[in-house]
Amino acid sequence: MPRMAMDLVFRHALVLDGSGAPGFEADVGVEGDRIATVGEAPPGRREVDARGLVLCPGFVDTHSHDDGAFLRHPGMEFKVAQGVTTDVSGNCGFSTVPNEPGRAYMPGDISGPGAGWTDLESYFSACMAKRPAINNLMLVGHNRVRAHVLGMERRAPAAEELAAMRGHVARAMAQGAAGLSTGLIYEPGRYARTEEVIALAREAASYGGLYVTHMRNEADRLLDAVDEAVTVAREASVGLHISHHKAAGRRNWGRVAESLAKADAAHRAGTSVTLDVYPYTAGSGPMWQYVNLDAIDREWAECVMIASCPDRREFEGRMVPDIAAGEGWTVEEAVQRILTAPRGKEVICIQFIIDEGDIETNLRHPRTFIGSDGIPVLKGNPHPRLFGTMPRVLARYVRERGVLTLEEAIRKMTSAPCERFGLVKRGLVREGWFADLVLFDPATVEDLATYEQPKREPRGIQMVIVNGQVAFEDGRHTGAGSGRMLRYRREA
Ligand SMILES: [Zn+2]
Repeated sequence: MPRMAMDLVFRHALVLDGSGAPGFEADVGVEGDRIATVGEAPPGRREVDARGLVLCPGFVDTHSHDDGAFLRHPGMEFKVAQGVTTDVSGNCGFSTVPNEPGRAYMPGDISGPGAGWTDLESYFSACMAKRPAINNLMLVGHNRVRAHVLGMERRAPAAEELAAMRGHVARAMAQGAAGLSTGLIYEPGRYARTEEVIALAREAASYGGLYVTHMRNEADRLLDAVDEAVTVAREASVGLHISHHKAAGRRNWGRVAESLAKADAAHRAGTSVTLDVYPYTAGSGPMWQYVNLDAIDREWAECVMIASCPDRREFEGRMVPDIAAGEGWTVEEAVQRILTAPRGKEVICIQFIIDEGDIETNLRHPRTFIGSDGIPVLKGNPHPRLFGTMPRVLARYVRERGVLTLEEAIRKMTSAPCERFGLVKRGLVREGWFADLVLFDPATVEDLATYEQPKREPRGIQMVIVNGQVAFEDGRHTGAGSGRMLRYRREA
């Protein structure tokens, strides 16, 4: 006999269960934090008429930089409104752990400033005290671990320093991190030789975790960088996840097909490889990290927009050549002046360096997930991916261009990343699984954030449920605060 009444029942929803299978019409009942029934449901204390709408698992943003945002913006509005119910944070080697309270680690650290915590456990406690809107899974970042032990020094660690670094990775893994992330293009990670990364990845391997990498090069030496990533994973016996896969710079466009072929060859040879991609032709990050002030790359600078610039707010949302023209500077001079201003290392830039065709090639690949790479600096003009990533895939690449079926897009946002990142009983609409759910209109769902107006929430997302609680409904954030800190391969 079914229970007398359930907390929440969706009637006549088109259920896309996250597996990639065709949708089916069903009632879905939620009790507490779990999906209690799929098929027919008893009366609900709250009933939602879901006719004509898709009900699917909550989306997983596999590439987030929200470590600090869980504390600064616990409502996580920019993610919830997209249907994101779980973030994977700590990417590109930048994580909030390990942490020494009061220490400034590196300028423009996109993981956000540390506060009172020291390790993953105490960071998680600090986050939970803020009652976050969505779930958070963490990676431990190589840049952070290295800075913790070596500062910004440009050398290999001594044996005891490497041992200390390994200890920090192991501690984070023991406390539930999903793996080690690197950002080998950035300071100080770029000073690491491959052997150092292998040694640290072995600590992730001993917990069955992943090696997640922003590779050493995403442009002219992309293929060498894939080789290095595969070497690390193979030598450490760990699964490889390649972050925001791209071939940057016009002369490299089209080459993601070659790097995917390399990834596939490694996968067939026994090193499991997955990837993520964001659905935009521009990247974004801390500007100083991309520039050698002694040899400014003009071709690059001409493709750059300023996202946030604490010293000159009026530059935000403008292209560097436009700023240069307005100020009577050369493009090189503009870059120089922006970066050497007092808060120059806090400048976030947006770079138009990616080919549209490469995005589609990435999206079609069966082991590519969706990761926003959004940087949650809400002052200024953030890259629109912070607010728009998931709906943009559904609108532009599913409905308008037919690059993916809706079922496949949902699978890439749900069961596939949940399985890879050890999110237990999440990512499928199934009885007994956690009730992280999104209800949306497949005919109208659409990102509205643009480079000009980057902070607009999408349309067509009707309802978002996080651990059984309504987090978002009809454009309104409820403040339910039902997000959790998730630990790799542990049910919670
Ligand atoms: Zn990155």
